[in-house]
Amino acid sequence: MPEYFCHRCRQKTEHVSIREAARRIGRNRKTLSIWVKNEWVAYQELPSGRVMLCSRCLLIPRGPGAESGGGREGGLTGEAGGD
Ligand SMILES: [Zn+2]
Repeated sequence: MPEYFCHRCRQKTEHVSIREAARRIGRNRKTLSIWVKNEWVAYQELPSGRVMLCSRCLLIPRGPGAESGGGREGGLTGEAGGD
């Protein structure tokens, strides 16, 4: 799998397709698509339009629908608008 720079991990990490990501964490692709849409996981969108998810961030998703192990951080309501 290719490596890209992940802005959340702040390093190059292995990135996987949505299908592979779903397989790895035992979720379905629809769930992963929602995570991407809401930016609960870090991802890269390739020039081809293909979305590749950071394999590290996959394990620590953010968001009300994600298993984040408790502590919910603010900022999920409202549009953050980039950095
Ligand atoms: Zn990451």
